[in-house]
Amino acid sequence: MPRKPIVAGNWKMYKTIPEAMALINALRSGASGISDREIVVAPPFTALAAAARALDGSGISLSAQNTCWENEGAYTGEVSPTMLKDVGCRYVIIGHSERRHIFGERDETIARKIRAALDASLQPIFCIGETLEERETGETLAVLRRQVKEGLKLIRGADMGRVVIAYEPVWAIGTGKTATNEQAQESHSFIRTLLEGLFEKNIASDLRILYGGSVKAGNVDGLMAQPDIDGVLVGGASLEADSFLRIIKFER
Ligand code: PEP
Repeated sequence: MPRKPIVAGNWKMYKTIPEAMALINALRSGASGISDREIVVAPPFTALAAAARALDGSGISLSAQNTCWENEGAYTGEVSPTMLKDVGCRYVIIGHSERRHIFGERDETIARKIRAALDASLQPIFCIGETLEERETGETLAVLRRQVKEGLKLIRGADMGRVVIAYEPVWAIGTGKTATNEQAQESHSFIRTLLEGLFEKNIASDLRILYGGSVKAGNVDGLMAQPDIDGVLVGGASLEADSFLRIIKFER
């Protein structure tokens, strides 16, 4: 079965509600009629409700950028997977490198968040990736193996069909440095082979693995031409309609 590509925009801590509405309106008109790829936007929590209304009927999916691992309780400042489902999210980004490296999220917490997201009928976009130091010391594949095994340890085979993985080398996020097509393909192929060992072969071959890290109009086509790259997770270039639309309209 061919894997339907995903182009996802992570807005990080940008966009007030009026700014979010303006961007969504531009994306709606610029991307109307596109159905051979899935478009996802991940606004900040504060804009999710308004975004859900503005996206209604557009075919563009809504994602959150993080979730708690519990559904309710005394967790001041947190937002639960059930609440994200309730507001209209289909996806939730989990384990983004900024969560890991700025907010100290660990594999153990990430595993619980992925489990909780699936239990709330959300699709996790599970982010993994090595730091520059890990790449330079030859640890990339070992780091990816650990992140995949630990992050997915609470997941049974049947659930994997709803998981999306995003390979995002930390050194490429927000830095303007993109992995080469070959570096990205090598990691994606490694991740898929790893998943074949952990789950069933058909689950691994159907799973979508996105690349993230300074994706722009100028490099998206080359990345998307790689056999194991099934889409992109875009930060900076998803904040403006023109640049994101160009990425959405990648050619293979
Ligand atoms: C991201 O936030 O996931 C990301 C890849 O950011 P950027 O595209 O800005 O590198």
